[in-house]
Amino acid sequence: MNTNVLKIGSGKISEVQSTLEKSSISGKILYVADPYVDSLYGAVIRPQMEAVGQIIEQRVDNNAISYAMDLAECVISADVSCIVTMGGGKTLDIGKYAAFVSKRPFLSIPTSMSHDGIVSPIAVLKRKDGKTRSLGCAMPSMMIMDTELIASCPSQLIKAGIGDTISNYMALKDWDFAVARGKDEMNGYAYMMARTALDAILKTQYDHICPEFLGVLANSLVMSGIAMDYAGSSRPVSGSEHLFSHALDYFCEKQNLHGLNVALGTVAVLKMIGEDPTEVVDYLRKFEVDVHPERMGISEDTFVYCMQHATEMRKNRYTYLHETDLNEKKLRGIYRELLEEL
Ligand SMILES: [Zn+2]
Repeated sequence: MNTNVLKIGSGKISEVQSTLEKSSISGKILYVADPYVDSLYGAVIRPQMEAVGQIIEQRVDNNAISYAMDLAECVISADVSCIVTMGGGKTLDIGKYAAFVSKRPFLSIPTSMSHDGIVSPIAVLKRKDGKTRSLGCAMPSMMIMDTELIASCPSQLIKAGIGDTISNYMALKDWDFAVARGKDEMNGYAYMMARTALDAILKTQYDHICPEFLGVLANSLVMSGIAMDYAGSSRPVSGSEHLFSHALDYFCEKQNLHGLNVALGTVAVLKMIGEDPTEVVDYLRKFEVDVHPERMGISEDTFVYCMQHATEMRKNRYTYLHETDLNEKKLRGIYRELLEEL
């Protein structure tokens, strides 16, 4: 792990300059931003970067691997000393991958908290054929999460971030299960980090989304990212509920936010393996994270199909679903129970 500057809190956006200075950044800085996000906050961070060096600007409108590689080449040939990226997950992943390829320091400034990928050592980028790929890279070496700024993003994005963190609940059960079956290795440090990320939000004193809670959520997302970094894969934070969500990405007509899909998957798989999902359901309800399948546009047929095909979504990720009875009648019953209970 090589994250060495991490700032979380209200108003932290004003610490871009001091962060760069402390990391001895000077010369050319590649500033990569989503155009909309730049129109909102560019005026706040641009003068801070100009105080340190000379800005080269790039607007991001896609998340293609080739685009990230082009940026990496620009960084190398123009002798850029650092990449600063501000925006949501897609924009951050472009900057993250370009920094990894060009071996430059990377300052990440997320403007939302919709999933744990914003602080992970993984970039999800598009290939030429349009399919996305999760590419291993490095954690951002500098990160600023301004909770006040993030509080102004749509609340659904924050709720999705809660859902992605809650999914550690199922992911860790799946990891234990896979290890017990001799299908995977345990990494105690990574396990503990993912568990701590989960406990921090499950046991929070806050009962609604407020700036203080966003600080807790930000910490949890970072810990999930560090867990992935320690494990060298997404295993600590991604189990059967993520396989189900990947199937929904492929087969569900209505596309929902990743964090909501995995939260639904967590409740559904817990029921399928005969475990009580009450703690998770009550938590989601408290924060008004709505994962009712019908309201998410997931039909009974789609639910059944995605559960039955979830294990095909990813090789080498052994989970409870590999040994659970997935007969149609049982799955239809669970879907109907979810309609009542969520
Ligand atoms: Zn996730």
